[in-house]
Amino acid sequence: RHSSTAASFKAQDLHVTQTDQKTQLPDFNNLKFGQTFSDHILEVEWSIKRGWGKPSITPMHNLSLHPASKVLHYAVELFEGMKAYKGEDGKIRMFRPLENMIRMNSTAQRSCLPTFDGEELIECMKTLISIDKDWVPDSRTSSLYIRPTMIGTEPQLGVSRPESALLFVIIGPVGAYYPTGLKPVTLLADPKYVRAWPGGSGQYKMGANYGPTLSVGQDAEKQGCQQVLWLYGEDQQVTEVGAMNIFMYWINEQGEKELITAPLNGLILPGITRKSLLELARGWGEYKVSEREYTMGDIVKGLKENRVKELFGAGTACVVCPVEKILYNNEMLQIPTMSEGAPVAMKFYNTLLDIQSRPGYDEELFHK
Ligand code: PMP
Repeated sequence: RHSSTAASFKAQDLHVTQTDQKTQLPDFNNLKFGQTFSDHILEVEWSIKRGWGKPSITPMHNLSLHPASKVLHYAVELFEGMKAYKGEDGKIRMFRPLENMIRMNSTAQRSCLPTFDGEELIECMKTLISIDKDWVPDSRTSSLYIRPTMIGTEPQLGVSRPESALLFVIIGPVGAYYPTGLKPVTLLADPKYVRAWPGGSGQYKMGANYGPTLSVGQDAEKQGCQQVLWLYGEDQQVTEVGAMNIFMYWINEQGEKELITAPLNGLILPGITRKSLLELARGWGEYKVSEREYTMGDIVKGLKENRVKELFGAGTACVVCPVEKILYNNEMLQIPTMSEGAPVAMKFYNTLLDIQSRPGYDEELFHK
């Protein structure tokens, strides 16, 4: 069991009330991320006095919160982002959901929100998805996005641990991230912005990490960049990008082929796509695989010496996302990721899509 406390809600207590007014299904070919939600919501209340309540699935509805609720003042909030896919056999599978539950509980601890048994929430989510199964797109590239969330609901303005909380899960279909093939992005790398720091909360998936990045994203957009490459420290370490981890495939100073990504040192979110790519690459054994610090200096020097081959983001939304340019110190660095069709990134992309849609394939590759 993966919970840090014995106290958890139980899937066997789940109470379901289905809607009698099903909404019309959307056009699955024309979906904007995060704007379409299914007909039901999963909720579980918690309080310090009574512990976890019984989970319920009810028709989708707005929340009613006291204006003093802690979430509204001190951002006592966490979330997860995960997906379910319809396989070639017509069955729906979540991708590595236990990994998201482990991360969610780790964020809960850092947020002073209650922990729970991840396997129990997975069971409840399976019921939610099966009730709203018509909302799961029947396509290799589209999926059902799942958004587990937890908020501090205690109506008290003190900056203190919330004595009540609400866990909820909403789901909705998302379209193909790349309707017309892998599309490379341009990044802004500006060392004046910092996303996370040692001892901070960068490794947790809490809303408070994301709100402050929006204006930086706007600045990037103004300069013609789609996403922000977050740097850290005097030596300008490359940490992660937007809502993705980042990988570089290059020939290192020793002349070895190497896939490199920043280590889990507290500054980056421990991505489940990141973990999956590392496991795949180590299994293939085609090149050296390193989790270690690397810097903008390494990229600039590697580019000059023609050693940088591919740079790409990795995350649930896109699986992999090739990088073609980085705006850094007023210079537009040209990254040759797509010059040979990004073979390393493409192999990850195709393999993960296979894993997500092929029956039984996932268990073979990703055993815990
Ligand atoms: N970094 C950040 C900051 C993110 O928000 C995400 C998305 N959860 C990721 C990396 C990628 O994580 P995952 O592969 O689990 O989606």
